[in-house]
Amino acid sequence: MFVGSLSYEVPMEVIKISPRGYCYGVVDALQIARQAAKDATLPRPIYVIGQIIHNRHAIDELTKMGIVTLDGPDRATILEQVSEGTVIFTAHGVSPEVKRRAQERGMHCIDATCPDVTVTHDLVRDLVAKGYYILYVGKKGHPEPEGVMGEVPGHISLLETEADVDALALTADQEEKIAVSTQTTLSLWDTHRVIQHIKARYPHAEVHVDICNATQSRQEAVAAQAKGSDLTVVVGDPRSNNTNRLVQVSEDLAGVPAVRIEDLSQLKTEWLKGKKRVAVTAGASTPSQLTREVIRYLEQYQSD
Ligand code: SF4
Repeated sequence: MFVGSLSYEVPMEVIKISPRGYCYGVVDALQIARQAAKDATLPRPIYVIGQIIHNRHAIDELTKMGIVTLDGPDRATILEQVSEGTVIFTAHGVSPEVKRRAQERGMHCIDATCPDVTVTHDLVRDLVAKGYYILYVGKKGHPEPEGVMGEVPGHISLLETEADVDALALTADQEEKIAVSTQTTLSLWDTHRVIQHIKARYPHAEVHVDICNATQSRQEAVAAQAKGSDLTVVVGDPRSNNTNRLVQVSEDLAGVPAVRIEDLSQLKTEWLKGKKRVAVTAGASTPSQLTREVIRYLEQYQSD
């Protein structure tokens, strides 16, 4: 008869949340930049105005190809740093004013704006032409709202929270015809709350939810597939809005604690202690290789 205790080591159960990782807008933007690097006919130097996508590894790859990434508080300020060569505008989009200033300086311009972002630029322009005032739900300080707001200056307000809605002081003219548009990479559920708040104050507001399909499907996947896990690991850059939203969705919707890491080197083994089931996802700007390395590591990890 055996008396005593046995300790078993079992492999970690890894839930590979799907879909995850790169979206088509990011793939296209990177492809545009890589092609520019290879095109010997383009004026040099080649600059990216801001981060082509919010991922350090992708930026390092372009740097090795001879492309200079410039950073700064906003696109207009970044552009002031350069006066010759080629500029690439990022997947987040850019205001017409920044495009105009680059052309005025005689720079060759390449636009890598995601088509889903372009849709919102076109939408707010059309709505303002029809007499609407725009309430744009987005993240302050993020380049995407900067580009959209620049389409219709004076006819748009940026709102991030319900408190921003309460603080709005519109004129009677502006209040008469109101339309709502949103950043593409927001949390579905947060955005819904802010829009409900807008509708409570302005019931006549015409609402357009412009969260892109890639963001939506990745968030819904986390809400459904992370459930029952002990932890969700989200691979992505700290500046990536859609990545940070996946952390939030895991915690708020799936009820599963989540950590965000840029790559495997940031994964701490203490987080895995006592965990049997770990879900993995990645932001739309995370190179697949980085997520694969995290999954491979976890699949070999022996939980106790
Ligand atoms: S997250 Fe959406 S809007 Fe952003 S690049 Fe991808 S598809 Fe385009």
